[in-house]
Amino acid sequence: MTADGEMFWQGCAAKEFRLLQCDNCGFVDHMAPSRCRRCHGAELSWITAQGGGSIASFTIVRRAPSPGLRGEVPYGLALVDLDEGARVMARLAGEAESWRIGGRVRLCFVEAGEAPGEYSGGQLPAFAPEEG
Ligand SMILES: [Zn+2]
Repeated sequence: MTADGEMFWQGCAAKEFRLLQCDNCGFVDHMAPSRCRRCHGAELSWITAQGGGSIASFTIVRRAPSPGLRGEVPYGLALVDLDEGARVMARLAGEAESWRIGGRVRLCFVEAGEAPGEYSGGQLPAFAPEEG
């Protein structure tokens, strides 16, 4: 699991949003356990998301969940259904007025703030509404 997380964050540093795809059934997952959640196959390969998706739900975080995030609130946090089929949780970018459930979004990366831990100094994946 740690290794999977490292692969994911290394991807973010390269501005890639990495997903795991099952070699057996093609199921795509995010931060997957060591086996496919659909067919329990153990052979998983890293793929890079194309970056398109839609908002399944979102919330606006007004109270920092940890001290390191105090300077960042309020921010949007969404569940995004990627075109590859995986549902991922990520920050929302852009104007809050443009966020809506079902709205198309596109992957972007934002500089992580002063947050401690795995985010610090890195690139944080976020999704911004598509124009039009
Ligand atoms: Zn599978």
